[in-house]
Amino acid sequence: MELPYAEPYKIKMVESIKRSTKEQRLKWIKKAKYNLFNLDSEHVFIDLLTDSGTGAMSDKQWAEMMIGDESYAGSSSYKKLKKVVKNITGFKYFLPTHQGRAAENVLFSAMIKEGDIVPGNSHFDTTKGHIEFRKATAVDCTIDEAFDTSILHPFKGNIDLKKLEDVFQKYPKEQIPFVILTITCNSAGGQPVSVKNVKEVSNLCKQYGVPLYFDAARFAENAYFIKKREKGYENKTIKEIVKEVFSYGDGMTISAKKDGLVNMGGFIALNNKGIFKKATVFNIMFEGFITYGGMNGRDMGALAVGLNESTEFNYLESRVEQIAYLGKKLVEYGVPVQQPFGGHAIFLDANKFVPTIPREEYRAQALAIELYIVGGIRGVEIGTVLADRDPITRENRYPELELVRLAVPRRTYTNNHMDFIAVALKNIYDTRNEAKSGYKIIDEAPIMRHFTVQFEKI
Ligand SMILES: *Cc1c(COP(=O)(O)O)cnc(C)c1O
Repeated sequence: MELPYAEPYKIKMVESIKRSTKEQRLKWIKKAKYNLFNLDSEHVFIDLLTDSGTGAMSDKQWAEMMIGDESYAGSSSYKKLKKVVKNITGFKYFLPTHQGRAAENVLFSAMIKEGDIVPGNSHFDTTKGHIEFRKATAVDCTIDEAFDTSILHPFKGNIDLKKLEDVFQKYPKEQIPFVILTITCNSAGGQPVSVKNVKEVSNLCKQYGVPLYFDAARFAENAYFIKKREKGYENKTIKEIVKEVFSYGDGMTISAKKDGLVNMGGFIALNNKGIFKKATVFNIMFEGFITYGGMNGRDMGALAVGLNESTEFNYLESRVEQIAYLGKKLVEYGVPVQQPFGGHAIFLDANKFVPTIPREEYRAQALAIELYIVGGIRGVEIGTVLADRDPITRENRYPELELVRLAVPRRTYTNNHMDFIAVALKNIYDTRNEAKSGYKIIDEAPIMRHFTVQFEKI
């Protein structure tokens, strides 16, 4: 028999998590106005709200925490990180920021003006927020296959070149500051982008004189999928694949809370000196001096180690295969999930799971609430609530997919936890026809409403 994958680490420290009763959870979720973001973490048994900043650091990362250099300027931890960023991404210039959206804020301040068009592959919510905040427009050019959860396409994060070229032909290049390519594509279900697609997008961008930037939160997981699925890459190392992918672009923003394997952090890396200088001014204004940009010295040290660890094959194999383990269990139970499975999360297809709940009553949100009530498991809605209202008409935007994302933190839960989640979902699925009504919104913010929105049960 072929040996199965196994975690390339053993556990040195544990943290207790508490079970609760269904009665307690009913009370807690009502008090939280049916918004899972409002729950106390001690009222959650398995927390799949996000894989952002929730992973476990290694002993080597913790060792870096002890020797962090907290100097305001010229910190040695900054130099360590700068060197690793250069080695891994190949980009010339680098600016630390306190997290991903801060990197977006700084870079977009330097590049986007009112009326601009920013094409990409299902922009992440903070990315879209930072574009729309500047009165610019994000145009989704993802391939159509991404929106059918049952199609088995190996690279559902890919950009449709025809859609992208249409944008290039419709608007002058002065109105398109850059294309943003998200790897892996979070909003489409943690789906990867192939090297072939990156190369083609890059060529099209060059042809029309538009720069290409990456939103690289899960660049290492993307490289793992390339190694496993794209012809010609099976024998390349993850670090080689990562370097090649970035070589087709002009720069990147990243939330280091994902593939950086740290609890907080982010950065911008890019090749254009003029934009770097412009972004530096905004970085000092919004984040901090250029050698810390909102990060502690110790966090920069831990990130330097994390970037090297997350780009190792054995780590990525156990990471991505744990997601697939959960996905396969759910498929076995008949639960409708996005396929192929994403790199950091399993996505439940609420349109197929609870079609009996009207869309106007936020069926994906209703499913996420039910999963909490039944199992103490916290996922997150990626559907109408997240899609927000149209900035002009103020009407709800109904996206093609109504999903519940179960994001698995890195190096944190075991496969016994995955079994627990799968059984909780099976039990809900077996009684799904009883679900007839959902929720209505009683309070919401004008932008990025999902974090603070309040609901009432219908
Ligand atoms: C998390 C994330 C961001 C934003 O990063 P934060 O660190 O949460 O601010 C941007 N883009 C993608 C694809 C992400 O996953």
